[in-house]
Amino acid sequence: MYDYLIVGAGLYGAIFAYEANKREKKVLVIDKRDHIGGNLYTKNIENINVHMYGAHIFHTSSIKVWDYLNNFTKFNNYINSPIANYKGEIYNLPFNMNTFSKIWDISRPEEAKEIINKQRKLLYKENPSNLEEQAINLIGTDIYEKLVKGYTEKQWGKKTTDLPPFIIKRLPVRFTYNNNYFNDIYQGIPIGGYTRIFDKLLKGIDVKLKINYFDNREQLDSIARKILYTGPIDEFYNYKYGPLEYRSIKFEHEVLDTDNYQGNAVVNYTDIDTPYTRIIEHKHFEFLENEKTIITKEYPKNWKRGEEPYYPINDEINNNKYQKYSVLANQETKYLFGGRLAEYKYYDMHVIVEKVFELVNKEL
Ligand SMILES: Cc1cc2nc3c(=O)[nH]c(=O)nc-3n(C[C@H](O)[C@H](O)[C@H](O)COP(=O)(O)OP(=O)(O)OC[C@H]3O[C@@H](n4cnc5c(N)ncnc54)[C@H](O)[C@@H]3O)c2cc1C
Repeated sequence: MYDYLIVGAGLYGAIFAYEANKREKKVLVIDKRDHIGGNLYTKNIENINVHMYGAHIFHTSSIKVWDYLNNFTKFNNYINSPIANYKGEIYNLPFNMNTFSKIWDISRPEEAKEIINKQRKLLYKENPSNLEEQAINLIGTDIYEKLVKGYTEKQWGKKTTDLPPFIIKRLPVRFTYNNNYFNDIYQGIPIGGYTRIFDKLLKGIDVKLKINYFDNREQLDSIARKILYTGPIDEFYNYKYGPLEYRSIKFEHEVLDTDNYQGNAVVNYTDIDTPYTRIIEHKHFEFLENEKTIITKEYPKNWKRGEEPYYPINDEINNNKYQKYSVLANQETKYLFGGRLAEYKYYDMHVIVEKVFELVNKEL
């Protein structure tokens, strides 16, 4: 008999498993995939740690979270500075003085502010009714047309005029020459890849892979006092209130016979005609100098049941549906729920760590 069965060997499940095991609880972790790590999983191919489910850059301003993860890995000094490729024109991201000086051939913050404000005022809408109006209100037309429109339409599979304005509440704009995407104090990529963190978290714990909880639910429920479920909440309740919607991504990995394909880890393709949103060149996360390189193209796509759910679509309909599921979840005594799928929220990794700390305090 186990104290805890943990469904999902992702970040949420693995940290909870580690903490429970540390407190001498008997723990079994299962995952339907053939590897641990959930979406953080990195696979070593050609001596390059490939982020198999999309680029993962760790960042946090919490010293508690940073110190905790440093027990399981050392982080390198990678700073996320993506670039945008708009029909062959290269711009720095996030929008900052490097972007503005390239786009308008100017050099001082005052000049950039003047251009942006002029463009915003020209089409300003008091109550924006769609994403296009919202974006122009925030950033003006040039940046919107070249760097926001195409990328956003590909990401959501809809015209910006058909998307609700709330999707972009704000657009990070800096009037300094600073290409660091995040404002957090701590940032980096785990040296040796993310999977090693999971090897350490799950050391000495029973882990069974390629086991789908729903294939054998009754039997699995019977071998544990409590169950922590980190999979999709709607599936747990057999889609009783209908399925929750997601946006998905097709990842296309390629090994190339060149040492440097694009000179940067992350390049966003912001025009509408290029079918992918980003190309990731994994070696640049780790400053590697090997002869080959591996790139991943990310193609956003609609999600169907049975496929990998990536981005929750937190619109009113789906959020209301989720609320109904969460009422059921809150009444459970044998089952605990946590993580991005069970809570139907996009959580960055540092938020997940904080969320598990909360559960550990309550439960253990
Ligand atoms: C494309 C993409 C890029 C991202 N980039 C970043 C980034 O740069 N920085 C950042 O901080 N965060 C990033 N994130 C967020 C990060 O991936 C999440 O914070 C993290 O993966 C959440 O961990 P989790 O344990 O909740 O979920 P998961 O990692 O999804 O783990 C859940 C696990 O449960 C398993 N499971 C589900 N159902 C069952 C079942 N029925 N039976 C058995 N097992 C099951 C799944 O197989 C999975 O392994 C990104 C997310 C995406 C989608």
